Amino acid sequence: MESLQSDRMKVHPGASPYVDVSGGELWINVLNETLKYGLAPKSWTDYLHLTVGGTLSNAGVSGQTFRHGPQISNVKELEIVTGRGDVVTCSSQQNSDLFHAALGGLGQFGIITRARIALEPAPRMVRWIRVLYLDFASFTEDQEMLISAQKTFDYIEGFVIINKTGILNNWRSSFNPHDPVRASQFKTDKKVLFCLEMTKNFNPEAADIMEQVRQRFILV
Ligand SMILES: Cc1cc2nc3c(=O)[nH]c(=O)nc-3n(C[C@H](O)[C@H](O)[C@H](O)COP(=O)(O)OP(=O)(O)OC[C@H]3O[C@@H](n4cnc5c(N)ncnc54)[C@H](O)[C@@H]3O)c2cc1C
Repeated sequence: MESLQSDRMKVHPGASPYVDVSGGELWINVLNETLKYGLAPKSWTDYLHLTVGGTLSNAGVSGQTFRHGPQISNVKELEIVTGRGDVVTCSSQQNSDLFHAALGGLGQFGIITRARIALEPAPRMVRWIRVLYLDFASFTEDQEMLISAQKTFDYIEGFVIINKTGILNNWRSSFNPHDPVRASQFKTDKKVLFCLEMTKNFNPEAADIMEQVRQRFILV
């Protein structure tokens, strides 16, 4: 649906900022445009070269979902071309049946030609942390603890990864893979490893607060 891009992308800053975009716009272009205003969408997919209409027809899930819901929970309004050829504007207040059916509707209820996406201030800096686990139970226990904690990270996502030769040399994680004490813990015959990926947004002036949060949760 990339041919459905237009130059109509318009950012509306203010108390409840949003951007109006074409259904064929790529999320990477939405991000680049909104960053000019110091703003960014609240909820993402990991990969950003996907269209707005495409991910809103599915869900749009990533590490911000635990806080903001998937992308389909952060849409204020849609324009849809229905099967009858009508162009309909819908939201949770206006034509709400169509709005809720089209979000996550796998394209079965019409073509999304425009979307109004909720924005928030973009973080100025981000600390990125990856932690590896050998054990599935500890991995899910920590993930549940982190997503339900009050003061927690801004992005939390879990991965299952194939334990291939050299993975510790190629993967950036929370410890130096050449540190013999840490790296030796992951010399294992297990076929899979588990990884938690977290980020914490912070302002450079408040970096010590960010460090406290990191130390509170990351013991390695
Ligand atoms: C490399 C990669 C990484 C991904 N990562 C994530 C991720 O992190 N999180 C996540 O949630 N998903 C992820 N996905 C899945 C993604 O959300 C879906 O594949 C989505 O459909 C991709 O959008 P697209 O623009 O490629 O859609 P397309 O492949 O063009 O379309 C897919 C389907 O969506 C519908 N559709 C597309 N555009 C519209 C429209 N404008 N109006 C109505 N229906 C439409 C149609 O049914 C269409 O058949 C990933 C996909 C890929 C390829």
